[in-house]
Amino acid sequence: MPPITVTPFTSPMPVATPPPGMELFQLPTGSYVTRAALAFRGGRWSDRREFASTAVLVRHPAGDLLIDAGFGANAAQHIRTLPAFRRARHRLGATARQQLDAAGYDHRRLLGIVLTHSHWDHVSGLDSLAAPVWTAPGERAHAGRAKDDRVFSRVTDDHEVREYSFDGPAHLGFSASRDVHGDGSVVIVPAAGHTPGSVVVFVTVPSGRRFAFIGDLTWQLEGITRQAERPLLLRALADSDPAGVRRDLARVIALADEVHLVPAHDARAYEGIPHLTPATTGPTS
Ligand SMILES: [Zn+2]
Repeated sequence: MPPITVTPFTSPMPVATPPPGMELFQLPTGSYVTRAALAFRGGRWSDRREFASTAVLVRHPAGDLLIDAGFGANAAQHIRTLPAFRRARHRLGATARQQLDAAGYDHRRLLGIVLTHSHWDHVSGLDSLAAPVWTAPGERAHAGRAKDDRVFSRVTDDHEVREYSFDGPAHLGFSASRDVHGDGSVVIVPAAGHTPGSVVVFVTVPSGRRFAFIGDLTWQLEGITRQAERPLLLRALADSDPAGVRRDLARVIALADEVHLVPAHDARAYEGIPHLTPATTGPTS
């Protein structure tokens, strides 16, 4: 396998004017155990990895979003519906819903739950959330066809699923975009590959710090720091279009100096993003 070709990103960073009161929080809901050897090329079998399942709350005066939903109240049941080879030892923590409630969160503020993609470990927590589910074109149909992962269909049964479009210009090397609030603070881009409707969510907070929630473009930070893709067999098993994953992984690696990249399953990548506490959920601005 040739090394990933990364073209440096030399254009200026796009304008973003996040309003005061915009904030990010992490809601870790648990983890499951796997091995570095299964997560990225060159990883060792003896290197045990806890894959995080974490939702992210993006507060904004115009309305809040969750990025992914983590494990839900019925996560153990969801895992039992998976084929044996996809079940892993897991540890369940408080669900996103429980963490929001414990912080006294007003659910009327939640505009929707943006999915990086529809796999079970990103959507299980929809079972206890009532907000609309935002999906990119093609993802709902993909989830409907998936025979070995029926969790999306189960948990969205009673949800409004909104398929949004990418009506905005190219953004940070990606071909199109959706600027959710019109101020550049939350911009979703298509990153088809892991699944046909996978996305990257770029978030800029008032301090000027930029984040990219890259879903499963890579499972661990080594995908970025070592440019180590998933092992060949796992690329074939896990990715709808491995070449698309490679292309988009190269695109985000090119941004790594300016944008804090967060692979969904690497707990280390969330360090520095605060947890939700009762004191942090007052009205924004
Ligand atoms: Zn995943």
